[in-house]
This record gives sequence, structure tokens and C-alpha cells, in this order.
Amino acid sequence: MAQLNSSFAQLEGTYIFTLIEERLQALEQSVPRDKILNFGIGDVALPLSSFVAEGIVRAVQEMTTVEGIHGYGPSDGYPFLKSAIREAEFSSLGIKEEEIFISDGANSDVVNILDLFSEDTSIAIMSPSYPVYVKACTLKGMRNVDLLPCLEEHGFSPQIPEKKYDLIYLCSPNNPTGVALTHRELANWVDYAKKHESILLVDAAYASFIRSKEVPASIYSIEGAKECAIECRSFSKSAGFTALRCAYAVIPQNLMIRQGEKRVSLASFWKSRQNIKSNGVSYPIQRGAEASLQKLGQREVREQVDSYLQLAAKLKGALQTCGFTCYGGVDSPYLWVKTPLGVSSWEFFESLLKKCYLLSIPGCGFGKEGEGFVRFSCFSTREKIDLALNSLQSLRGNHVICSC
Ligand code: PLP
Repeated sequence: MAQLNSSFAQLEGTYIFTLIEERLQALEQSVPRDKILNFGIGDVALPLSSFVAEGIVRAVQEMTTVEGIHGYGPSDGYPFLKSAIREAEFSSLGIKEEEIFISDGANSDVVNILDLFSEDTSIAIMSPSYPVYVKACTLKGMRNVDLLPCLEEHGFSPQIPEKKYDLIYLCSPNNPTGVALTHRELANWVDYAKKHESILLVDAAYASFIRSKEVPASIYSIEGAKECAIECRSFSKSAGFTALRCAYAVIPQNLMIRQGEKRVSLASFWKSRQNIKSNGVSYPIQRGAEASLQKLGQREVREQVDSYLQLAAKLKGALQTCGFTCYGGVDSPYLWVKTPLGVSSWEFFESLLKKCYLLSIPGCGFGKEGEGFVRFSCFSTREKIDLALNSLQSLRGNHVICSC
């Protein structure tokens, strides 16, 4: 009989949403399901933009005609979408269409990129951060993985390490802390990468939420980044594509990796990998993604992102009024809320649930350094936020939440 990949045994911890479901079941008596206000999962809460939907429907209708037959497309995406992305997102940054690779999700890209690296690659990963990076490294049998703590005293930014790493996962704006790396911080990472011949993997799935002047929309606005950085973006959070699936990775042609004694361009290997392991994203979905980058589509999706940010500001204000220390919500839909002194992430999670019917995510689910925090996702609606504000109002001047 075949042997299972032994790396599965190395995966640590149960998936956080499974644990939450178990807690919810345990609390069923004291917390009725229909009363729970869910600020847990980071999934879209607003309907798909009608301009985007029309783009998808038009593409499907086109396929019902002889002239519009579409079979397999290029595994790394259609030129029309690459061109729209280049123009909308990178026109002043010198990124070429052939450096843009379309995929079905940033999740796939940040995981699959490991196919290009040898197992002894030294890897550094922000903690807390998107849990998939660590799990993907474990599954891939990567032997040399360290965490870069993102602590409150450093504004939740990872500090530049003394040690040399070959590959560094940077998530900016970061899920869960909601904190984005500034121009200066990214420039320091580019300097580090150039000094050590490292590659920076920047997961910018939330780039469309960036509003702070000191935070660049793309790492490629920093000189030298094209020689050391891969940027992953997604339509999931920028245009409500979590169910539709479309994203892209930018791999500049000047980004090199060692193959024996030679230095070779990484992008061509990514193209080969995608050719072997993927048949690409469907034509109608790529047309929908293209529509989200056109003027009308951009306006509609930008309004949605603005709306999530407004809700984040509102909830942040209410939590602060209740006396909680709260981060994020400026360049991100996530709020990172500190637990009261001596209260663990899980205790605070349960207390918010029992006393306010608010469902958050315990910060420890995003890495050990997330202990002492909970995450609120503001992918939500005005109605739900108003209910949350009412619920929180009952806590004002009343520290019952702190005595879990
Ligand atoms: N990267 C980060 C940081 C995320 O938080 C998520 C989803 O929550 C993803 C990637 C996944 O994005 P996609 O839907 O494009 O696979």
C-alpha cells in the first residue's frame, strides 16, 4: 500500500475555524446561533458589482456563438487581463505584461511558489500572519523555517533579522493585525534582500485597502525591488471574488535564483510550473476581473472597499470607547484588539461571544505571537455594525467583559 506524505503528521494544530465551531457548539445553550454577529471570517459581505457581473455574463454569452468559442486558455492568463492589470495597477512602475501570471487565488500562489525552491531553502515567516504560509512549508517538507515575531512594541512590523534567509514571506497589509509596511520598512527589506540575495514574497492580497500615504500600493515603487520581490495580489478582497477565484503573481524577469552555479530568472520556471500543474482560470472569470479594472468597475469595487474601511473605523471607535486597545482598520478590513490584562485570546473570544454575541477570531489562531489579541473582520454591512455598536454600548463604563 502507498505511504501517505509523512509531512501531514507534522502539521500542528487544528484549523482555527474548526476549533471555533467546536466552541460554538459547546456554548449553544448560552449563545443562540441566530443572535451571533459574525465578525470572524474574512469573506465578502456585499453583492458582486453589477458591472463585473455583466462582464462575466457577456463572456459566457459570447461562448454560445461560433465566433466566441473558447477552449483552454493560456495557463498563466489571457493577455487582455494582464494588460488591464498592468495599466490599472503598475503603469508607472515599469512592470511588463509577461511578468504578470494569472491564477485562481493568492492562496494558491503563496503555497505553490514553494515548488520553485529546494527543501533546504531558509525561510522566514511573519507571526502572527496568514496561517497558510507555515502549513504550506510544513507540507512541502521545508526543513529550515523560522518565524519573525510581529510584536506590539514594534507596531506589529517584523524586525530585519541578523540571520540570512533565502525566502521571506511578508504579508502587507497583514492578516490578522491589519498593519501595513511603510515605504521605509519595505525599503529596509529590499536592502536586506539585495545584501543577502534573498527573495521577498509579498502577499498583498489586501493592497486595495491601502490608504496611508506612507504605505506604498506596491513594493515595486521601491528601487531595486524588481530584482528581489514577488508580489501576490488577488481579486478576492478587492472586487469580491472569493467565490469566483482570480488572482495574480508578479515575478519580474530580473529576479534571479541559483541553479547550481548559474543564476537563472525565476519567472520562466514559474511559467513552466503553471503549465504543468494548471490549466488556468476560466475565460468568463478573467473577463469579470478585467471589468473590475475598467473605469465603471473600478468605481463600484472601490466603493465597496471604502465601505468596509468605514465600518472598520466605526467599530474601532466603539471598541476604543469601551476601553479596548485596538489596531488596524486603516489600511485593512481587520481590527486587532488587545485582550484585557491577564485574559487569553480564547477567554476574550468567549467573553465577547457570551456577553455581546460578537464572534471574533482568537489571535493565537494566527501564530503564537497572536496570543493576547482577537481579530475582527469588517467585511460586513452597516446594519450588522450598528447591531454590534448597540451591543458594545451596553458595556460602556461596565468592565464585566474584562472579568472573564
Ligand atoms: N492572502 C491573505 C493574506 C489572505 O488573508 C487570504 C484570504 O483570506 C488569501 C491570501 C487568499 O486569497 P485568495 O482568495 O486570492 O486565494
